[in-house]
Amino acid sequence: MIRLATLLVALAAAAYAQSADTVLINGKILTVDSQSSVREAIAIRGGRIQAVGSTADIRKLAGPSTRSIDLQGRTVIPGLIDSHLHAIRAALSFSTEVNWIGARSLPEALARIHEAARTMKPGSWLIVAGGWNVDQLQERRRPTQAELVAAAPDNPVYVQLGYGWAILTPAGLRALNITSDSDLPAGGKLEKDAAGKLTGGITGGQNAIIALFDRLPKPTFDQQVEGTKKFFRELNRLGLTGVVDPGGNNLLPADYQALFQVWRQGQLTMRVAYALCGNNAGAEFEEFKNLTQLLPMGFGDDMLKFNGLGERITAAMNNNNRPSATDKEKYAQIAKWAAERGMSLTMHWANDASVGQLLDIFESVNKEVPIKTLRWSIAHLNDASEQSLRRMKALGVGWTVQDAMYFGGDQFRQTSGVEAARRAPPVVTGAKLGVAIGAGTDAHRVASYNPFTALQWFLDGKTVAGVAIRGPEETPGRIEALRLYTLGSAWFSFDETQRGSLEISKLADLAVLSKDYMTVPVDQVGGIESLLTMVGGKIVYAAAPYRE
Ligand SMILES: [Zn+2]
Repeated sequence: MIRLATLLVALAAAAYAQSADTVLINGKILTVDSQSSVREAIAIRGGRIQAVGSTADIRKLAGPSTRSIDLQGRTVIPGLIDSHLHAIRAALSFSTEVNWIGARSLPEALARIHEAARTMKPGSWLIVAGGWNVDQLQERRRPTQAELVAAAPDNPVYVQLGYGWAILTPAGLRALNITSDSDLPAGGKLEKDAAGKLTGGITGGQNAIIALFDRLPKPTFDQQVEGTKKFFRELNRLGLTGVVDPGGNNLLPADYQALFQVWRQGQLTMRVAYALCGNNAGAEFEEFKNLTQLLPMGFGDDMLKFNGLGERITAAMNNNNRPSATDKEKYAQIAKWAAERGMSLTMHWANDASVGQLLDIFESVNKEVPIKTLRWSIAHLNDASEQSLRRMKALGVGWTVQDAMYFGGDQFRQTSGVEAARRAPPVVTGAKLGVAIGAGTDAHRVASYNPFTALQWFLDGKTVAGVAIRGPEETPGRIEALRLYTLGSAWFSFDETQRGSLEISKLADLAVLSKDYMTVPVDQVGGIESLLTMVGGKIVYAAAPYRE
C-alpha cells in the first residue's frame, strides 16, 4: 500500500511537472514554420514553447497553476526582430529626447515639444534627433524657428531631419555659441531665407550634422539607463522582441554601458545582438584588435550577445563610392582578420553601382578564409542588381532590407527614375535567388522604428505620402513579409533555430496583435500594435484587455 501511495504521488508530481506555465488558447497563431501553419493555441514552459495545436490539445497541458490566456480569436505572431536598428543609440536618449515618429501634422509635432517643455526640468534641451520626414506632416514642410520658439519659449530646441538638416532656436544657437558659419563643424552652413536672414536652419553633409549633434549635451548615465528600459518597452509595445544592432554614428564603446547595466540587472526586455564599429579614422584595425581581445564572436547569452563588426568598418570606406586602392587594402586586412576569428561582419552600403568593390574584397578574403558560415551581410543597397545578389548568395552574404523608401522613395524616384523605383528594393528577386534577407527600419535618425510601418510598406510599396512606387513584382505576400521580419532577421545573429517562429522548443517570444495582420486592409497594417508581448514566456508588455 505504501509503495502504491508513493508511486501515485510520484506520478502526480510528474504530471504536474509537465504542465505548462502559460497557455494561450482560442487564437489564430501564425507559427511561421516551414508550412506557414496556423494553429489555435500554444503552451509555454520554462521560457520555451512546449506545444502548439488545437485549443482542446493545449488545454490538456494546463495544470492547476498554469496561467491561461484567452485570445478570443486574436492573432499571434512570433516576436518581431529588426535586423538593422540602431537601438542602443536610440535608447540612450529615449528618456530625454522628443519623438516626432508618427506625428501627422506640425501642430501635433510641436505639441510634443510643448509637452516636453512642460514636463522636463526648466530650461532643458529639447531634442528631436530624427525619425520623421516632411511628407508625414499634413503641411508638407519643416517647422520654422518661430514655431519652435512659440512651442518652447524658455528652452533651447534642436530638431534634426535625416542627416542633412537641423534647426536650432535662438536659445539653442546661443547655448552652442553659434553665430556664423565658422562656428559650425566643417561642411556646415547656416541657412538663409530669400531675404538673406538666418532661419536657424543648418545644412551640410552627414559628417557636419553628426558633429553638430555631438555638441549637444549628453544624457546622464542614469538617464541613459532609464532611456534604455523605456525604449525597449516601447519596442515591445510594437511587437518587437529582438534587434540586431549595427553600431552607428555617434556611438562609442563607452556608450554601451547603459545597455550592459540593464542586462546585468536582468531587466532587458529585448534580445540584443550588438556589433562594434570602427571609430578612430585610420586606426580602426588597432581599435578592433584591442576591443575584441576578450570578446569572442557570439559571446553572451540569450538576451545579449556580441555579433561581430559593423556597420561602419573603416571611415575611409564609409559612404565612399570611389575608395582608393589603399582604402580597400586596409579594409581587406580587417575583413580577413575578422574571418580568421570567425566573426560576423555587416557593412553599410548604399549603391549597387559601387558595391562591386566591396564584393571584390569579400571574394578575395573568401579565397583565403572561407566566409560562408560567418553570415556577413550588406545593409541597405536598395537598388541591388541581380548580379550583386547572385554574388552575395555565392558568398553566403546576407542582406538586411529597411523601409528607407517609405521616407525616401520620392527622392529616389526623382534621381533614379520610375523603373528603378519600381524594384527598390528587389526583395522578391533576392528571396528567389536564395539570399538570406532580414527586415528592419534603420531607426531612429532616418526612420521610424515601428515595424508595422515597415510591414505595411513591404506590402504596398507606398511612401509616407501615399504614393505607390514599388511594383507588384517586388512585393512580397503577407506571410513572406512576416517571415522576413522574424525568421529572416533571426538568421543575422545565428538565432533562427532558437526564435523567429513559434515551434516546439523554441524561445517563447511572441506578440498578440490588436488586429489580424493577415486579413486587415493593407493600409491598416501600419496601425497594428501589440496587446501582449512575451519574451521567453515572460510578459514584457500588456495593454487592455491583458493589463490585469
Ligand atoms: Zn547604415
